[in-house]
Amino acid sequence: MEQRQQHFLLVTYPAQGHINPALQLAKRLVRTTGSRVTFSTAISGHRRMFPSLAKPEEEVDDGILSFIPYSDGYDDGFNATTDDVSTYMSRIKLVGSRSVSTLLQDLAARDRPVSCIIYTLLLAWAVDVARDHGVPSSLYWIQPATVFSIYYHYFHGYHELITSHGDDPVFTVNLPGLPPLQIGDLPSFFSITNPEHPYYSILASFRELFEMLDREEKSSKPRILMNTFDALETDVIKAIDNMELVAIGPLVPLPPLDGKDSNGIISEGNLFKLDNKGYMEWLDSQPERSVVYVSFGSLSLLKKQQLEEILWGLKESGRPFLWVVRKDNRGEGVELEEGENGMVVEWCSQVKVLSHPSVGCFVTHCGWNSTLESLVCGVPTVGVPQWTDQATNARLAEAWGTGVRGEVNKEGVLEGKELERCLEVAMGEGERGMEIRRKIEMWRERSQEAVREGGSSDRNLRTFVEGIASNK
Ligand code: UDP
Repeated sequence: MEQRQQHFLLVTYPAQGHINPALQLAKRLVRTTGSRVTFSTAISGHRRMFPSLAKPEEEVDDGILSFIPYSDGYDDGFNATTDDVSTYMSRIKLVGSRSVSTLLQDLAARDRPVSCIIYTLLLAWAVDVARDHGVPSSLYWIQPATVFSIYYHYFHGYHELITSHGDDPVFTVNLPGLPPLQIGDLPSFFSITNPEHPYYSILASFRELFEMLDREEKSSKPRILMNTFDALETDVIKAIDNMELVAIGPLVPLPPLDGKDSNGIISEGNLFKLDNKGYMEWLDSQPERSVVYVSFGSLSLLKKQQLEEILWGLKESGRPFLWVVRKDNRGEGVELEEGENGMVVEWCSQVKVLSHPSVGCFVTHCGWNSTLESLVCGVPTVGVPQWTDQATNARLAEAWGTGVRGEVNKEGVLEGKELERCLEVAMGEGERGMEIRRKIEMWRERSQEAVREGGSSDRNLRTFVEGIASNK
């Protein structure tokens, strides 16, 4: 029997780490299930993804995906130095709800009714919008299943225990279905207890999300899409009885990344302008597996001292390096002279870099996208987590045997000599380095296998779409 074409509205927070996995999901839905997808991020993100638009809110249609933004009330963007996070969180809820609601009406009026809303983190309000329009909705969790499970237990009985040991990073907690974890390995938002703290509202948003899932669970088992794969987090995925975690990843952009992929769909949703220094050509000139790639993602701001220590460590290691220091992290007066052996860029096509045979190690803040990209490209990591889920992700990489975690000093700074030590472990000829390279190769194969046609994540996504189509 022929299945009716589904139309997914994918709503995402306007941050790079949210847009990237959402865009990859959009592409997968189109390519593997023949669904129609409208991709919607806030106007501030949309205008950065498509900088040449005549009007920032203009719709973009590449013939396969439609991009129509919503307003979060900050159409010129959120300014981290002057705007307040909790005001933003209230505003995106209010203005975003109205705007996405109007979008649903407009799409229906244009004979493109939406059959399901998929929303990413920090947008729990999208569930109410969907319900008001009689449309089903699903959460797309863009962190590991392990982190989902940690949040779940934090909001279901473990809040007191975790909070009361908040100042003891080595205190061990045993959460159901998870290996023992230290307080310092848990999401950083748990340590925020002061309602005046700028990020207190982020934890409140997670609370709202889990309360909403609890309400949903009373009528049917919530089905949550996860950017992970069955083999990577087998036990954790099955451990929460009353929710179905559907592993559909790793959803990361795959090369070639030259604007559009082989299906003519936009391949990356960069919010930053790609640096036009010839970093790929420079990589071409380096020996195989010799280059250290360093990037701390799209949000982390490193202190001057940290930048200096990294530079010192890289130089002392004697290894060639390619280092991303965003424009917004250059204001501290650090002299980032590159020397003969290195290159510093403002933003690069990260998966392209990680797929280059010259790259031998990735010094990362352990954002979940970067972590998955290191697995898919088979590049060992040195983890230097900064905040949110990154400490947990760094522990996961250690547990998989694919990376080392750098130890920071009392000020939270990774010193140059520690970086040098970690690079020697991950890239050197010692036993641990060889084992790390063996493990990363195994995970590279398994991660690519999961998303191949007939692989576990491919099957899980198809089953999910069939479920939406049959209202099951
Ligand atoms: N990224 C990129 N170019 C860069 C640095 C990062 O394309 O120069 C991408 C990277 O591939 C990843 C995303 O930005 O997909 C960052 O997401 P992640 O979850 O790793 O960290 P976040 O930015 O959310 O902290």
